[in-house]
Amino acid sequence: MDRIILLYLLSACISAVPAQKFLYSSPWVPRGIQEREDRDDGTIMDEIIKANEFQASRIIDGSTSLREGDIAVSAGRRSKVCFAKSCLWSKSVDGHVYIAYNLSPEYGEIEEKLIKKGMETVEKGTCVRFVPRTHQRDYIDIQPKSGCWSYLGARGGRQTVSLQSPSCLQVGVIAHEFMHALGFVHEQSRSDRDNYVTIMWPHIWRDRLRNFEKFRTDNLNLPYDYNSIMHFGMYAYSQDGEPTIIPKSSQNIKVGQATTLSHIDKMKINRLYKCGDNDDY
Ligand SMILES: [Zn+2]
Repeated sequence: MDRIILLYLLSACISAVPAQKFLYSSPWVPRGIQEREDRDDGTIMDEIIKANEFQASRIIDGSTSLREGDIAVSAGRRSKVCFAKSCLWSKSVDGHVYIAYNLSPEYGEIEEKLIKKGMETVEKGTCVRFVPRTHQRDYIDIQPKSGCWSYLGARGGRQTVSLQSPSCLQVGVIAHEFMHALGFVHEQSRSDRDNYVTIMWPHIWRDRLRNFEKFRTDNLNLPYDYNSIMHFGMYAYSQDGEPTIIPKSSQNIKVGQATTLSHIDKMKINRLYKCGDNDDY
């Protein structure tokens, strides 16, 4: 009898330990993310990293994975040759670039409003206009899948933009994903970035080093933009709480953007789509 009680107690202890651990310990988070939560220098990209790294899978499906943190790439397709002109949405004779969209019926009213605000943020001061899809062949299909991500540029046909609710439904995050769909990579991936920022490789989370690659981009004759909505924050993918990106010109420059497109972001859109630089669209 004693033995049975002992066995019972023993098994109760064993099963209680992992259960307790599971219930009460917070999930592992790199120190950089933990320490930054109370600070006010967060950026759009920090929100995307939080949503994608801690809730979502990096593999979207068997053949599609995320590059640079939130750009979807399909294996087998000519991956990523859209650093500028090869994947543009077509431009209408009236001078606008109309992007047809389908919005998942899974979104509620408030979510829909936020997504439309994200669209307006991109439209303001640019020639881009989002229009509900009627018959268009090429369109973005906005879906609350796992995480916040988009393909780069126009792929032809239907292409998903994932905006998970609620973690991706901030206006800035939405606008950032639309910028990828328009054809833009992250600002610090620019070909000339080493003149403007120092990448602090030893502080980067080991298996995310590839998120800091640079590419042969067409910079459209525009200056490097620390304030771009497409710029990683200073602590992106930090494994030890130290900065991973340091501006070369001044330590006081804020890197990244917390809310909206910068003026240069809007100019980028207008130049890529040859719409002219004026704001009166
Ligand atoms: Zn991004």
